[in-house]
Amino acid sequence: MSDRTMQVINPATGEGIEEIPITSREEVDAAVERARDGFREWQGYAGLDRAEVLHEISTRMRGHADELAEIMTLEGGKPFIENRDEVTWTAACFDYYGEIARDSVGYLPAPIEPQQLALVVKEPVGTVACIVPWNYPLLLAAWKVAPALAAGNAVLLKPSEETPLATRRVAELMQGLPDGLLQVMYGAGEVGSMLVRHPGVDMVAFTGSQETGRKVGMAAAERLIPANLELGGKDPFIICDDVDVEVAAQGAVWAACLNAGQVCTSSERFYVEKGIADDFLEASREFVESLNIGDPMDRSTDIGPMINASGREKVERHVGEALDDGATLVAGGGRWGERGFFYKPTVLTGVEPSMRVMREETFGPVVPVVEVDGLDEAIRFANSVPFGLGANVYTRDLEKMLRCMRELRAGTVWINDPLTDNDAAPFGGQKGSGIGRELGREGLEAFQESKHVHIDPKVEKKDWWYPYGKDDDPAQRTM
Ligand code: NAD
Repeated sequence: MSDRTMQVINPATGEGIEEIPITSREEVDAAVERARDGFREWQGYAGLDRAEVLHEISTRMRGHADELAEIMTLEGGKPFIENRDEVTWTAACFDYYGEIARDSVGYLPAPIEPQQLALVVKEPVGTVACIVPWNYPLLLAAWKVAPALAAGNAVLLKPSEETPLATRRVAELMQGLPDGLLQVMYGAGEVGSMLVRHPGVDMVAFTGSQETGRKVGMAAAERLIPANLELGGKDPFIICDDVDVEVAAQGAVWAACLNAGQVCTSSERFYVEKGIADDFLEASREFVESLNIGDPMDRSTDIGPMINASGREKVERHVGEALDDGATLVAGGGRWGERGFFYKPTVLTGVEPSMRVMREETFGPVVPVVEVDGLDEAIRFANSVPFGLGANVYTRDLEKMLRCMRELRAGTVWINDPLTDNDAAPFGGQKGSGIGRELGREGLEAFQESKHVHIDPKVEKKDWWYPYGKDDDPAQRTM
């Protein structure tokens, strides 16, 4: 057992919750060995048996939903209500992959000769390192772990150093898996890096910031192993002048402030058509000021704390710079409370597309608004940053919807229903927001290798083998 430890902090108070051991290099080595044994045993399970194990995990999570949500609230600061939802979505993800993984394990291409059989067999990659952030610790782990296990892999899961406790509890609840098949590794980037570089790890699935993703991608490239990268975003939110402004403003504030703005698909840039901009700002101000900030454990809290001091400082920097450069505060703008890492939901106007708050990931509860002349300008601005995770649009006009669908460069485009994920549809980033997809069939295929098997039942010499030149007419050769 390692003698190094890390302190888990409650972001609502700034106080320590528990000190837990950091996984040592020797423990990582031993875990990789055990994972290989677990992997071999898991290959002996039929699809239906694997599905049953995944359903059992889902049932256990649902049965402990309040307990898990409380742990997540304590360590991550997300309001309890949102964490309760997260447990349900996490469980649903295990159910989904339990089923679709047994739909098919490959397909049959047309063979080269009629008597032959060509098979494409989908196989597990092997031992997969899954590295996740703190903002949705269970859900983002499930988006990797559920398809990875369903596809037959072994998993080494590393939760964020900020939020290891709910993951540790889930691992205890995951009974019925072969020994070593799923193991949790604890620590910060050093432990993540050990996993990516370990010769016994066959693939890495990573969710986190663009900066870390680049490092993980480069380390994986050096070893020539696949890396699925789900990275940061700077999602645009376009509001056309044909909508109910109050609904759009409430949708906008929710999409910006959910989990205190710490969602990879948080809306962080708002492009509002000029004619409705004043009404939109007023409706946003009213809605923001009606929100309950406070103890995330309280069932009526809308906005909890940010994860840590450095997360809040980044928001302060982005907002402060915008105000220095001529933006105006419509609501919020500053810390809340005497302790913890709270930041008030904030609305800014007079923002320029060139400001940092409109170009870099802020990851806090901020609604910066730019007035635009029309959809052309809004789409041009929306596509102007090197991120492409999600994009939101509010309009009733079908023609505008279809234009946005085609022209916005993002992995997901939401129209009139911000931030809704669907297990059955792929999720991921275009441009600098990532490589690869999670969820849907793509999310299962990410954890599979394709093997082509070519079978000829007849043992016969082929007429295109040596010796050449016996045929006068090359067109007679069959291959
Ligand atoms: P982070 O990049 O700091 O850390 C993510 C994980 O990587 C953590 O577990 C961390 O310990 C680990 N890590 C750090 N350095 C590493 C290294 N060198 N090698 C291997 N692992 C390493 O991100 P964070 O602050 O935990 O999370 C916030 C970021 O995650 C935001 O940028 C957000 O947009 C992004 N995110 C993306 C998605 C998505 O699906 N695209 C979802 C949620 C969050």
